[in-house]
Amino acid sequence: MSVNLLGLDGEGLATLVTELGEKPFRARQLKRWMHRLGESDFAHMSDIGKSMREKLARTAHVSPPRIVSDSVAGDGTRKWLLDVGNGNAVDAVFIPETNRGTLCISTQAGCTLACQFCSTGRQGFNRNLSVAEIIGQLWLANRELGATPGGGRVISNVVLMGMGEPLLNFDNTVAALKLMIDDDAYGLSRRRVTLSTSGIVPMIDRLRDECPVALAVSLHAPNNTLRDKLMPINLKYPLAELLAACVRYLERAPRDFITFEYVMLEGVNDREEHALQLAELVSQVPCKVNLIPFNPFPNSGFVRSPREVIERFNKTLNAAGIVTTTRKTRGDEIDAACGQLAGKIRDRTRRSVRLERTTS
Ligand code: SAH
Ligand code: SF4
Repeated sequence: MSVNLLGLDGEGLATLVTELGEKPFRARQLKRWMHRLGESDFAHMSDIGKSMREKLARTAHVSPPRIVSDSVAGDGTRKWLLDVGNGNAVDAVFIPETNRGTLCISTQAGCTLACQFCSTGRQGFNRNLSVAEIIGQLWLANRELGATPGGGRVISNVVLMGMGEPLLNFDNTVAALKLMIDDDAYGLSRRRVTLSTSGIVPMIDRLRDECPVALAVSLHAPNNTLRDKLMPINLKYPLAELLAACVRYLERAPRDFITFEYVMLEGVNDREEHALQLAELVSQVPCKVNLIPFNPFPNSGFVRSPREVIERFNKTLNAAGIVTTTRKTRGDEIDAACGQLAGKIRDRTRRSVRLERTTS
């Protein structure tokens, strides 16, 4: 069977070239051609000998997911829907800004965690993405954005904030992260690769030990009672344990703060008392708070907090000494904003069926 080389990290490639009877340094050449130069045709890999190229053509291939659709919003945000087989599709989103370009990628087809305010959560779960499907999003986006060797980087930052909970697809996510920061692959600084998690405590520790990158944690509520309701994962890993894990993470993190994400839901978590409670709660962790205006999706049952309320909440946190910013909404008219990514999931948990029953 032919192997997809996009799914192999440095070690995997080294094993493969040895099995082909080639010298180990060939693995590095291969990695550079595929990831740095975006080459998928072995015949073009000019400094690799002809016989090895022929062996590769017989036994391997470089295949990113297929693009199902490609949409661009008025603000330049671009969303690709990618086929990951068996009727499933996931989203990757590119967000251009003045001095950086951020790619937001998915790690699972759906999500098991069912956070109330998240469209991905509502869709249910099908499966974990493979390493090739995760890194393939970066490979494809580079190609689609016309990145040329030596032509400067279009994608300067990667955020794992698309569909799925990255820490519940740990091994594949870490293999992809390692390629992102590998100088022979994408060469991104660890500080410019951000993993966002809903707070899987033991996996935060593993990430710290195996591949620390910048960390964002979805908080969304200042106390356990409310967080239990909005994010059922809180029943398993409540706030005190989560914040302690954040402090431990900082021992090895490439940045000296954790980003706490907080989605602004009108009448739910956006009152002055919530802001004060949040300030008190996070004061034990060096952090920045990022307020995310809720992005609506059909039948969500939530409403975005009004602009003045978000501004006031932001000010209250700042006044309490917590560095706080509000995320600009990007690409919402193409359903590319945070929490709107629904891809196309064949739910195996039957969550969508159960929800239909309870709401009809
Ligand atoms: N599973 C991970 C990463 C993906 S979600 C996590 O939960 O952290 C990326 C961010 O978008 C998270 O902070 C998530 O809580 C937030 N989000 C989810 N639904 C949203 C919505 N409808 N509007 C705004 N942000 C949302
Ligand atoms: Fe999953 Fe994150 Fe959405 Fe929660 S917010 S359902 S963890 S993708």
